[in-house]
Amino acid sequence: MQVISRFITLFLIMISSFFLTNCGSGQSSEKPAQQPIKKIAVVIHGGAGTIKRENMDSITEAAYRWKLNSALDTAYGILEKGGTSCDAIQAAIVLMENSPLFNAGKGAVFTATGENELDASIMRGNDLNAGAVAGVKTVKNPILAAYQVMTNSPHVMLARAGAEQFASEQGLELVNPEYFKTERRAKQLEKIVKKVEKEFGTVGAVAVDRDGNICAATSTGGMTNKKWGRIGDSPVIGAGTYANNNTCGFSGTGHGEYYIRTAAAHDVSALMEYKGLSVEEAANAVMQKLTNMGASGGMIAMDQYGNVAMPFNTPGMYRGYKKEGEKTVVKIYADE
Ligand code: ASP
Repeated sequence: MQVISRFITLFLIMISSFFLTNCGSGQSSEKPAQQPIKKIAVVIHGGAGTIKRENMDSITEAAYRWKLNSALDTAYGILEKGGTSCDAIQAAIVLMENSPLFNAGKGAVFTATGENELDASIMRGNDLNAGAVAGVKTVKNPILAAYQVMTNSPHVMLARAGAEQFASEQGLELVNPEYFKTERRAKQLEKIVKKVEKEFGTVGAVAVDRDGNICAATSTGGMTNKKWGRIGDSPVIGAGTYANNNTCGFSGTGHGEYYIRTAAAHDVSALMEYKGLSVEEAANAVMQKLTNMGASGGMIAMDQYGNVAMPFNTPGMYRGYKKEGEKTVVKIYADE
């Protein structure tokens, strides 16, 4: 009898020690898989399109590369000092909105009636909060207005006069619509009407900050010769812009109607979330879908670990990124 009870006690001790080692406090005896390291990073685009070496003079090319570099440096500087990813990308986009080189802010393309109507949006990946403005004609920096909609209103999108009034109430600078008119874009309207040019100069940015939070944003004048009142993908959350810390941040450029129809931005995020694709695989798959539908354009996407994807199907896309511990990359043409 004593032998049996000793045997049972020994058996119980063995069982409990097995459970303590293997299941105690929810820990596995296996070594945890190594997590990729999160680092601060920013990726930007300045639009895709018929951007060819043979059509570009060296001074204009240098100006584009310089602007892209300074936008990256500005955003990265903010991230380095511990600023948020939303602050960083707003600063980068304001720089590009204030430059006549890009189709956003100053330098926005013309509608068919010769006006400039601007769209912008921003989204942050930790709480899926988002803000957007559409069809504004007097807000100097639409991206700042989009941020105010996200942070200081219960709404996601405000349009036209309502958005302009809200921007003014938030203390943002309003300008005379003449401010946005540049000769280059006026000429582009003539060329587009004659169907000889296709260029999307929208700007966008995605960043990840020290807390691992992703923020994504897009700002545009839309498409040259658009009907007045036309709203593209750029201010539409899930189409031109999206951010989710669990997947990626996204900003698109291209023929906006297709990006809306495919919910391109959310599609990239969903492929990562539901199918477990990497950011590159997901972005390439959605780019392929857009190409198959006949859309031209491109996109930037980045995950929390600074993995970047920048696919496009046009001859060029102004693009670049800066990541912790790596050299800055700025590219224009498809063959770089
Ligand atoms: N996606 C923008 C739009 O359709 C245009 C662009 O990317 O330049 O409004």
